[in-house]
Amino acid sequence: MTPIDPDRRRLIGAGAAAMALGLGTAVQSASLAAPGPTHRDRVRPGQPDWPDEAAWQRLNTAVGGALVKVASPFAACRAAADSAVCEALFKAPANPWALGDDVALTQTFGWVDAWSSSPSVYAVAARRTADVVAAVDFARERRVRLVVKGGGHSYQGTSNAPDSLLVWTRRMQDVTLHNAFVPTGCAGRIAPQRAVSCGAGALWAHLYDAVTTRGGGYVQGGGCTTVGVAGLVQSGGFGSFSKAFGTAAGNLLEAEVVTADGQVRIANACTHADLFWALKGGGGGNFGVVTRLTLRVHPLPETFGAVNLTVNATSDAAFRKLIGLTLDFCANALVGPHWGEQLRLRRDNALQVSMVFQGLTRSAAVAAWQPFFDALDASPKDFDLAFSPLRIVSTDARTFWAPTFVKRTLGFIKRDDRPGAPEVNVFWPGDQGQAGQMLHGYESIWLPAALLHADRRAALGEALFVATRHWSVSLHLNKGLAGAPAEAIAAARDTATNPAALDAFALAIVGARGDPAYPGVRGHEPDEALARRQAMAIERAAAVLREVAPDGGAYVSESNYFQRDWARAFWGANAGRLQAVKAAFDPDGLFFTHHGPGSDGWSADGFTRAV
Ligand SMILES: Cc1cc2nc3c(=O)[nH]c(=O)nc-3n(C[C@H](O)[C@H](O)[C@H](O)COP(=O)(O)OP(=O)(O)OC[C@H]3O[C@@H](n4cnc5c(N)ncnc54)[C@H](O)[C@@H]3O)c2cc1C
Repeated sequence: MTPIDPDRRRLIGAGAAAMALGLGTAVQSASLAAPGPTHRDRVRPGQPDWPDEAAWQRLNTAVGGALVKVASPFAACRAAADSAVCEALFKAPANPWALGDDVALTQTFGWVDAWSSSPSVYAVAARRTADVVAAVDFARERRVRLVVKGGGHSYQGTSNAPDSLLVWTRRMQDVTLHNAFVPTGCAGRIAPQRAVSCGAGALWAHLYDAVTTRGGGYVQGGGCTTVGVAGLVQSGGFGSFSKAFGTAAGNLLEAEVVTADGQVRIANACTHADLFWALKGGGGGNFGVVTRLTLRVHPLPETFGAVNLTVNATSDAAFRKLIGLTLDFCANALVGPHWGEQLRLRRDNALQVSMVFQGLTRSAAVAAWQPFFDALDASPKDFDLAFSPLRIVSTDARTFWAPTFVKRTLGFIKRDDRPGAPEVNVFWPGDQGQAGQMLHGYESIWLPAALLHADRRAALGEALFVATRHWSVSLHLNKGLAGAPAEAIAAARDTATNPAALDAFALAIVGARGDPAYPGVRGHEPDEALARRQAMAIERAAAVLREVAPDGGAYVSESNYFQRDWARAFWGANAGRLQAVKAAFDPDGLFFTHHGPGSDGWSADGFTRAV
């Protein structure tokens, strides 16, 4: 048997996939062409093929002066760690809005032993789709590594790459509400509905302001207000109330995308349906640059609320008992559309409740929790409930994301404190600790609702107890869709997200991070020894949970950088279809991300073909 040239095998595969997906001829002919310049490795500054100054100038002209030469603030800090600029860079807690407004920065500064935030050489600060087309064409033709950044919140570092050209969408922030949106080409197939469109640089705070605070509607986004809309939708995307409204991806109605061939494509259920499907959870930065998105708008519930309390167990035995009571209560009351967010089981034998609810009055929420409080009261020697008068609160849903005076005074919400910052620049204090963070370790696993059945609950409880001997475990109830309405589950089923999410009662997350730090910056070095110890503890905790949830996969955007068997973990049975869409729309791998579809054809940095 004659072995097939690996490049040729890729081309045959890509061509077949293109035909199966009914792509236009432009992509087919490109994928079937003989290996040309686009089939070679990518260039770096200093190499003979790196574009000269005149070429960059031509790109700058094509994008109307939006090309930016990027300098690394980290390099400057390595040279002068005591400078005021450097002190500001490592200030904790940082302002997430300020980090996002800096073309050179990402929200996470790095991950010990994995990656360190490194800016591109040039960035196109795109204002319109045509700017993105020019950048994509330039990168493809000149074999420059391309990277895309929106909100900059990737834990995996997939929105930054040294020696690259960045498409930065931050300036594309327009938001438009529609009363009767019909996706292009879907007339007669999809009924007109309320929807919101936004540019690719919009963050969830912008949509919550336009849709909820001003528009009186609801759009399913992320919990963190400074996450990018485009990045979250391509992650799958879970928000506080996903148990009622499903994933962000499941609510996508249409996207405008610039694909690797420089074509501007409209993707929806009726046009480029496979590309549309892949954009819904297939991972950001893998299939093209999304320039515009339109999402379903739901009627707004009357009330939103929160439950915040901590229960301390007085011994290991009491903590085992507390986990059991928590799982009983969870199975009986919390796995449904009213509830979301987190139950954190801590290493110090405490349960920290940070839950939210929707569509319930405060008194209904109190009544729902009463059986749990009664169970705790029955064992006064075992449990100590940290009392707070604000442990169950509710608000008119319309003001949930509004920085009202009362909420700011009580510390429930914060505003960007830079002079002149827009009112809409808000964030939850709980997310602020992640601004500028250095990650030490991270794991996620979907826990099937079947583990809450009476015959398996004790085993789950024991696994959680043993896991917490290694590291604290957070159960994100809103990131598993068991208990959600059938239509929310059906919409999420029609996305690339691992189907394990559909019948999970929660996503278990085990993670650790340090304050802002960067290798080589004196006084701000990451604590590598600590990070490695914590990473090992996290892996051990996750391994215990995987014993009870062996098919629990991992959430693509909130997962281990070193995830084993990552394609199956992120997408389950959807991984093969995703790979086919990748081969059809990006046969030469212009869009590369760590552990993205097709990334195994490249070196870890995305510069050199692996075969
Ligand atoms: C503090 C914090 C809180 C979080 N909370 C949640 C949460 O509540 N729920 C949840 O599901 N996830 C959450 N995440 C994870 C987050 O949703 C994902 O990391 C998401 O991909 C970030 O999108 P971004 O645009 O902010 O980030 P970026 O880093 O800019 O982008 C993420 C990926 O998407 C790509 N991308 C961005 N814009 C585009 C575009 N226009 N076209 C093509 N590709 C693009 C990037 O190249 C990158 O690969 C959180 C992360 C952080 C740091």
